[in-house]
Formats: sequence, structure tokens, C-alpha cells
Amino acid sequence: MLDFFKEVNLTCSNCGREIKENEPFTVTLKLPSKKKMPVGVLDKVLVKHAEKILCTQCQSVCV
Ligand SMILES: [Zn+2]
Repeated sequence: MLDFFKEVNLTCSNCGREIKENEPFTVTLKLPSKKKMPVGVLDKVLVKHAEKILCTQCQSVCV
């Protein structure tokens, strides 16, 4: 198996629930420098670089 296609699960930083396909979510990102701009599959990039991932439920509680 190619590692590139391995599934990565996005989970909510607050409740730990998995973000499912087609589910909206909120992510807090720091803008990386242009030299370090992440490139790749979106969920992998997010898992690696996100400061915080919130599912819709937790978002409505936190805001
Ligand atoms: Zn949550």
C-alpha cells in the first residue's frame, strides 16, 4: 500500500469526534511562510498543520 493514500481522520480537538465526509467543520490555521507552504491532500495537511479543529457542535458551544 502506498502511504500517500492512507486514510487520515480529522478529529475534533474539543470532543474528539471524527469529522465525517461532507461535514462542515472549523479549523484554525496559522499561515505558514511561503517557503514552508504545505502542499498535499487537504485532510493530511490539516491534521499536520491545524492549530485546532472544531466540529459544528463544539463550534456552536465555543462561539
Ligand atoms: Zn466536537
